[in-house]
Amino acid sequence: MNTAAHPAPAAGKDSRIDWARIRADFPLLARRVHGKPLVYLDSANTSQKPACVIEAVDRFYREHNANVSRAVHQLGSESTALYEGARNKLAAFLGAHRNEIVLTSGTTQAINLVAYSYALPRLKAGDAILVTTMEHHANIVPWQLVCERTGAHLKVAPITESGELIVEQFVEALGDDVRLACVTHVSNVLGTVNPVKELARECRRRGIPLLIDGSQAAPHLPLDIAAIGCDFYAITGHKMCGPTGTGALWAKREHLEAMPPFLGGGEMIREVKFSGTTFADPPHKFEAGTPNIAGFAGLGAAVEYLQGIGMAGIAVRERELLEYATHALEGVPGLRILGTAPGKAAVISFLIDGVHAHDLATLLDQEGIALRSGHHCAHPLMQFYGVPATCRASLAFWNTFEEIDALVAAIARVRKLLA
Ligand code: PLP
Repeated sequence: MNTAAHPAPAAGKDSRIDWARIRADFPLLARRVHGKPLVYLDSANTSQKPACVIEAVDRFYREHNANVSRAVHQLGSESTALYEGARNKLAAFLGAHRNEIVLTSGTTQAINLVAYSYALPRLKAGDAILVTTMEHHANIVPWQLVCERTGAHLKVAPITESGELIVEQFVEALGDDVRLACVTHVSNVLGTVNPVKELARECRRRGIPLLIDGSQAAPHLPLDIAAIGCDFYAITGHKMCGPTGTGALWAKREHLEAMPPFLGGGEMIREVKFSGTTFADPPHKFEAGTPNIAGFAGLGAAVEYLQGIGMAGIAVRERELLEYATHALEGVPGLRILGTAPGKAAVISFLIDGVHAHDLATLLDQEGIALRSGHHCAHPLMQFYGVPATCRASLAFWNTFEEIDALVAAIARVRKLLA
């Protein structure tokens, strides 16, 4: 059923992919909320999980549970194989070498690792770290913390009203004082896809390392880190169909070798003596303590699942959903979309005249529609637009055109209630 004025793209445009069958892989999507079918439009916050990921976590505890790298027994080697297998799969997914992948609890930990192991020892008063107006707090606050400790400062590259990075101003800001540039690949609020290859080229020309926050890119775009040419790339597993508490930092080997450990403890050492400790080679040097082994068993399954569908197919599907949703929402009187950059990802932040974002999201929840309202961990971006909050509908490949129709119809009902 498609009741909207804008027809959905011909069903099965990409005839190799049966999207209805893929949707059925996600058990939670069959739920009802407040007596209505769930319409989950909050994937930028966290993605839903396909059954194969849930089963991989379950199977880990039922069949393999043991600690990694410590036991010589069978369960220990199975557990280690699953954990290291996730690293191999992530390496293939990102186009990187496995020894350049540090497994972390998510992007936040990955960026903090770079802040404390790479930036902190190198920064001094007068130095700068360049970020952009559209960063998530995870790509702002760690830099502020190391700046406070070193006397360095943040520089901010501006964006346009439509939510595009002003590349010339970013390049102009890459002065002699800049020790590191940090940019999101895809904005979690605006959906803007930044020209990361171009930014990396400009940074390389000036010998400035570039960190890319790939949290919102990895679930939606085919990635080839070698082709981007950056120095650090951070991802988070729970936005890419994997379990919470999983993620990774990819870094150039030369950086990982030069960086001191961030956390100390078991698993990351070669030899410990009271007179001093020598450390394991990267990436294990950065993986102190017992990791989220079950989570990484799940993340390995998630990566295989995404690759099984194909990231190029996912990107096409989400572009179609985005075009349809944008068109449909533009038809809602008084609705304004923040973030209209060409080629953007399937994230739509919007405001409706006279309606508070939280009120709208709360009433939409009563209709079974889950979307996020708030500042989306991007206060400086809200300040740029002069708004306290937006509503954000974020789409994934399992969403349907009918769900977008349901959103638009529910907004119309809710507006009547609020009028
Ligand atoms: N960066 C971006 C762009 C994000 O959207 C998020 C999560 O919302 C993060 C970083 C933080 O990710 P995590 O909380 O999984 O570490």
